[in-house]
Amino acid sequence: MGTIKDIVDLTTQLANSVADRKIASELNAIQSLILQLQSEQAALHEANIELREERLSLKERIQELETENQGLMSASASVPNGVPTCPNCSTMSKPFFMRPVASDFVHLLNATHECPKCKYNTKIGELEGIS
Ligand SMILES: [Zn+2]
Repeated sequence: MGTIKDIVDLTTQLANSVADRKIASELNAIQSLILQLQSEQAALHEANIELREERLSLKERIQELETENQGLMSASASVPNGVPTCPNCSTMSKPFFMRPVASDFVHLLNATHECPKCKYNTKIGELEGIS
């Protein structure tokens, strides 16, 4: 900002000291262009501040999402493949795994897995011989 003011002052000084009217008017034209440039620069400066703030908040959001993602990743990594969790006994942070039903009881219960805690049972996948 200081540089622009110096240039404006210098052109004012030149315009005043120059005897040639044509040169003086050209100097005035240059001066108004410089002032236009100054307001454009101010607008850019403001836009830059807004972008910096937006960038900061996006960085924070990324951090939040990464933390959330890590939690989800470690939660899903601890779930053995194909083992269902009990909808009654599981919590967001700790899944409660169901136990496979003994093969003799699969037909009887029409279920493949049972919760050892609340006895909730479920059928996972297609079972042969059950319609
Ligand atoms: Zn349960």
